Amino acid sequence: PLVLGIESSCDETGVGIVRGRELLANEVASSMDEHAIFGGVVPEIAARAHADAIVPTIAAALETAGVTLDELDAIAVTQGPGLAGALMVGTAAAKALHVATGIPLYAVNHLVGHVAADVLRDDVGQLELPAVALLVSGGHTSLLHVRDLVDDVELLGETIDDAAGEAFDKVARLLRLPYPGGPEIDKAAAGGDPRAIRFPRGLTKPKDLEKHRYDFSFSGLKTAVARWVEAREDAGEPVPVADVAASFREAVADVLTAKAVAACTELGVPRLVLGGGVAANARVRELAEERCAAAGIELRIPPLRLCTDNGAMIAAVGAMLFAAGKPPARLDFAADSTLPVATPRGVQVGSA
Ligand code: ATP
Ligand code: MG
Ligand code: FE
Repeated sequence: PLVLGIESSCDETGVGIVRGRELLANEVASSMDEHAIFGGVVPEIAARAHADAIVPTIAAALETAGVTLDELDAIAVTQGPGLAGALMVGTAAAKALHVATGIPLYAVNHLVGHVAADVLRDDVGQLELPAVALLVSGGHTSLLHVRDLVDDVELLGETIDDAAGEAFDKVARLLRLPYPGGPEIDKAAAGGDPRAIRFPRGLTKPKDLEKHRYDFSFSGLKTAVARWVEAREDAGEPVPVADVAASFREAVADVLTAKAVAACTELGVPRLVLGGGVAANARVRELAEERCAAAGIELRIPPLRLCTDNGAMIAAVGAMLFAAGKPPARLDFAADSTLPVATPRGVQVGSA
């Protein structure tokens, strides 16, 4: 099926068009630069930017794909989770398109979309299931068990405080590096010693693992880095930015990859899919490769334009829902900033 997908959960206005698993267009307008002086995404600014960008981005995607609206079999849109005001712009646009054209509309879970991004790759063999997915971005840090992208996605664990990308952005800020912090810390860390400082690994003590086996926590790590840097500054000593960046990055990469690989091993799942902007991190990729290879797990990291927020991944889920004969969303479905990844087994958010 030919499907147009709209994504507006955070600071990217994304519109993608797919034909089944074939990627025809993936247009993204980002308001990232407008948030830079605030050191993080400002919800009102993001929502306003979506409102400005949504129509031109839809037009650009149709143009790139060389298709017209009336050729579409379905429209798909991110229902949640994400920023409420931002989600409302995308869902309103999708509903307007649906009402104007009569083309069926599907409501898609953003996290399921991140996993589905992998099926749009043409550089490697097709994604086989089951898979474990580690989704790490500025807004989420989630570990999923994916048995079927339409019907069977289970949340294994998630961050109990900050998202991993958020931790990168906050630590970058206290090291006086620009926003977004992830790429800056990656760069600074390249010249540092990852063993210079032993920063804490959240939720890895035996006692924590009982309740939070696949959950993450990064606020303690961020505080530890802040204390360490302050102590240096108070003593009038220079802050070894490269060593702090490398040691912090090591702590994040260590805990992310350890838990993801443990989930694969413990659930008997032979492959791991990464998604989200933090999948760009050099050390996360390196450690994931090392640990997956050692455990005999296939590691799949889609190209970055499919890892970060985009409309094509939402279109890909829409195509699957359509092909599976799922009922479209009702016109009165609402954007849901805390939409759970899946309701009990067998029921998917696409049939909202
Ligand atoms: P969402 O959470 O809805 O997916 P987002 O805009 O927060 O949206 P992305 O656009 O996927 O997420 O990713 C942005 C985040 O990824 C930022 O927090 C950024 O610092 C982080 N990031 C980008 N590159 C790197 C990197 N090389 N290392 C670590 N973090 C990175
Ligand atoms: Mg973003
Ligand atoms: Fe995302």
